[in-house]
Amino acid sequence: MSNTLTREKKRKLQEKDKGIIDFIKIQNHFFPDLIKSLEAVQDPRHQSYTTYDTDTLLFPVILKNIFSLHTMREMNDWFYDGNCHANLEKFTGKKIPDIPHYDTVNDFLEMLSPDELDEIRVEMVRQLIRSKNFYPARLPGGQWLLILDGTGLHHFEERHCENCLVREIIDKQGKKKKVYSHHVLEAKLVLADNIIISLGTEFIENEKEDISKQDCEINAAKRLMGRIKKKFSRLKLCILGDSLYAAKPIIDICSGYGWNYIFNCKDGRQKNLIQDYAYILGSGEYGEKKNLLQEEKGYAKYVNHVEELTGKDFIANIFEYEYVKKIKNKDTLVRFQWLTDIELNNRNMEEMVRTGRKRWKIENEGFNNQKNGIYKIEHLNSHNPNAMKNHYLLTQIADILMQLYLAGHKILKMLKQTIKNTSSRLLETFRRATVSDEDVSYIVRYTTVHFT
Ligand SMILES: [Zn+2]
Repeated sequence: MSNTLTREKKRKLQEKDKGIIDFIKIQNHFFPDLIKSLEAVQDPRHQSYTTYDTDTLLFPVILKNIFSLHTMREMNDWFYDGNCHANLEKFTGKKIPDIPHYDTVNDFLEMLSPDELDEIRVEMVRQLIRSKNFYPARLPGGQWLLILDGTGLHHFEERHCENCLVREIIDKQGKKKKVYSHHVLEAKLVLADNIIISLGTEFIENEKEDISKQDCEINAAKRLMGRIKKKFSRLKLCILGDSLYAAKPIIDICSGYGWNYIFNCKDGRQKNLIQDYAYILGSGEYGEKKNLLQEEKGYAKYVNHVEELTGKDFIANIFEYEYVKKIKNKDTLVRFQWLTDIELNNRNMEEMVRTGRKRWKIENEGFNNQKNGIYKIEHLNSHNPNAMKNHYLLTQIADILMQLYLAGHKILKMLKQTIKNTSSRLLETFRRATVSDEDVSYIVRYTTVHFT
């Protein structure tokens, strides 16, 4: 097939694209019980006052994210129209009095425990891991790649809640000033080069207003790793992270849990190890491999067990990679350096370099996509700290569905349309399409989804 589609071919493909119906089909293929589990969350509401089941409150918010609607008001404006009500009934398989108002949804999200949504995501990830579709993404030793990455979500001029992180800054007039914020730490699982999903979330926040030491990314990482070990006790993992994580407490947790690690270590922490690595390079006692990663024709060097020279009690195999990249027509040397407990050799060097750089890719694309792409995760859908968390988790669940849809839908791959257009098309079909019983049976029919 040629790369450019004729207008005629494109039109024919677009006709075959059933939009939201195909989306729900892929959702149903991987997670046939998703709606049921949204219905089964522990409901904190006073039962005599409830009009809506929990799935009819939660599923519209998932759809809101997929459709790239950025405010709760927009969700209502769009959903109170066309066939949305009837279609929501088809997709949830039940009669619904109406599309719920966003105040009703937010009231519920203020009460619902975020652990409930976390548990649904845990079950989704387990199903994906079991499906064997994604085994090729593992390292040769069977380890799944898990990337730790933190970011700021919301910033406030005034204290927003008792859990806010507080930082003192000097403003433009030279005055000391406090700023308040909410941050989050993600553990992203690599299922394929184009499918990197949230496996776990830890909110970086203070337990209460009066504390001497602010919560931080490293402490959040310790909590998150502990929870992941509990939920996925037998999963083989290799943890990836930036140089912040190349710290003994984190490395000790990895070793204790039987997880491998690959951390950036170009600068910052582990100065002594890096110095000793450079010293060993100077003595010529290192391994090397040339012409890596196809057109990059990069160059890698490595030394195993630098810790023996430095006197550390954890394994520190260090490797580096460099290649020449044209940046603004100038040849620029790009260099990476990592620390790992995986034994390095000429056979695995190329794979190790490729793996190390996956984290770099997520740093540049992961949160950036969620902030500036279709979800706009920095937008506040509620000021309530508990509802904020639930909104965030529902976005991560929506993102899992969206990534599987984008990667698994044959026609979308051929159309090569932007994610923004795909998102609009999904909303349009949710509003316009009449979902027939035939469509519903199409949705539940078993098919194989190919990720290539
Ligand atoms: Zn706050």
